[in-house]
Amino acid sequence: MTQHRARQRFGQNFLTDAGVIEQIVRAIDPQPEDNMVEIGPGLSALTGPLLAHLKHLSAVEIDRDLAARLRLTFPGERLTVTEADALEVDFAQFGNDLRLVGNLPYNISTPLLFACMQVADYVRDQHFMLQKEVVERMVAGVDDSDYGRLSVMLQYRYRMEKLFDVPPTAFEPAPKVVSAVVRMIPLADDRVRAHDTVLFGALVQRAFAQRRKMLRRALGDWAALMPWDEVGVEPTARAEQVDVAGFIRMSDALSARGL
Ligand code: SAM
Repeated sequence: MTQHRARQRFGQNFLTDAGVIEQIVRAIDPQPEDNMVEIGPGLSALTGPLLAHLKHLSAVEIDRDLAARLRLTFPGERLTVTEADALEVDFAQFGNDLRLVGNLPYNISTPLLFACMQVADYVRDQHFMLQKEVVERMVAGVDDSDYGRLSVMLQYRYRMEKLFDVPPTAFEPAPKVVSAVVRMIPLADDRVRAHDTVLFGALVQRAFAQRRKMLRRALGDWAALMPWDEVGVEPTARAEQVDVAGFIRMSDALSARGL
């Protein structure tokens, strides 16, 4: 097969470090019957080692050349390659109890995380390699400087754990940034959810759009509707000082007032 030239527009940095590949596969712990979907299999650095444990693997790859190459490398029915943009794929089509994995293209990582959240009900877990800074924002808590909208929105839906860092030298070509692997497990407990998830998202967005402002200002006309004592949040607090449960209480208070 001819050599593949990495395409920057598809965020192609291929894993080449055998030790890191093994570390990731061990963290995923694939079992034969798992319903696994790999996003962006590329040159199959993870695909092959995953398939060694699985009866079947689905893969979504946007690059036509790489999709064709994957079908040649893994003929037969154990690997199903969907040539598509992962941002436009309805992951529900792959069935239930999904295990999503991927060394993700960094240029689409945030929209992809939000797209995956839409199908979280069908997902058992997700193991993704992302830019280290993004992983740190995802797992940050109230007192961390990285705490923001991404932390709140994802922690609302997932239990997350940063597993380990991966240096640029593990890839070809080497990216400019350090990467990290994160495990995400959808929360099953409905009781921690807001009554209105769309309103919850809008509230978090409003609050963090002006994160240095006090909430009573940042929330605009919603601030006047907020029963601050009842929700247990100071109107003089900033978004970065409110935990996920606080945002849920605020959102529910607004729903109760007809928003
Ligand atoms: N998994 C391989 C590895 O670890 O070596 C490749 C990782 S590379 C960082 C990202 C892969 O995602 C590439 O194969 C790229 O073509 C693919 N990709 C980029 N954008 C995509 C998209 N929107 N949907 C599906 N795959 C995409």
